[in-house]
Amino acid sequence: MIKGLRNIAPYVPGAQPQEKNIIKINTNENAFPPSPGVLKALSEFKGNRLRQYSSLDNHDLCQALANQLGIKQEQIIVGNGSDDILALAFLSFFNSGDAVLFPDITYGFYKVWADLFQIPFEEIPLSETFELVTGDYVGRKNGGIVIANPNAPTGIFKTLSEIEQIVKANQDVVVIIDEAYIAFGGESALPLLSQYDNIFITRTFSKDAALAGLRVGYGIGSPKLISVIQAVKNSYNPYAVDSIAESLATAAVMDTSYYDGINAEISQTRDWFSDELSALGFEVLKSKTNFLLTKPRGVSAKALFEFLQAKKIYVRYFGDHGRLSDYLRISIGTRAEMTKVVTVIGDVF
Ligand SMILES: *Cc1c(COP(=O)(O)O)cnc(C)c1O
Repeated sequence: MIKGLRNIAPYVPGAQPQEKNIIKINTNENAFPPSPGVLKALSEFKGNRLRQYSSLDNHDLCQALANQLGIKQEQIIVGNGSDDILALAFLSFFNSGDAVLFPDITYGFYKVWADLFQIPFEEIPLSETFELVTGDYVGRKNGGIVIANPNAPTGIFKTLSEIEQIVKANQDVVVIIDEAYIAFGGESALPLLSQYDNIFITRTFSKDAALAGLRVGYGIGSPKLISVIQAVKNSYNPYAVDSIAESLATAAVMDTSYYDGINAEISQTRDWFSDELSALGFEVLKSKTNFLLTKPRGVSAKALFEFLQAKKIYVRYFGDHGRLSDYLRISIGTRAEMTKVVTVIGDVF
């Protein structure tokens, strides 16, 4: 018997099946390839650069992001995916001993980090219609707040003025806004940065920049918050963004028009696909992301999940417990892929 071993329920990501010729719409990856500039940076990357450590401050990437967002470099920290940044943010900002608040239905990792880092937390139920109720986060004692906007896996978006009410009412704690899906039609909380120094926004290259495999994400906040999280990062894994990742992510930031184009197309396909599912009688939540949460009609979510998988179409099913058990989360692939999905589902009815 070995003493002291940690026992924890881990986050369970969507499957990464290795089969060929599948439609993989289960983990919200981008439907399109990375930009031409990214592929060029990859082919031109000099292997000999790998001999040295990557830059400590990720200057080039932070500078490119600062220029793009119209903020200062001291307001940005980059990491190994936004999961890395979010985990560091939990460690850095939630040490008061009071419970951190987040919705009962949101990105599953928040609860896992709170458990892992032994941070007390309270899950606030979304409404019957899966809406975040702003008033639930106002006037309630807490040690911090985490909100994904748009939320995952619901896809539902909260307006900037409602986010501001929450940030404003909680100026003694850090409010994290996870903007993993902000490029698909939502409204960023960035304008709040100039007024509030308790807001910390996280973003990722995984979804909108089609670079899930590269592992780059970033956080945006006041220079004070950034210096706190930077110190924690440097106490743990200072070189979390490797030099290949830094150079490719920097190239991605430069290719705005390519990314605006593909993400607009994904948003259009989403709205079309949503109408198609609605026409079949499915309940579909209004999404501002690259996925839809839907409740099938006439068949259980689980049965449809298994049926689609047999047809080599992978969607996400969250298991048969809780409010999500009647729903499937379907990422938005190319128009051709989604047309196939509509045909396959249509054949059942
Ligand atoms: C995908 C996702 C992330 C994590 O993305 P990384 O790949 O780690 O950058 C964070 N938050 C939400 C809500 C996500 O869906």
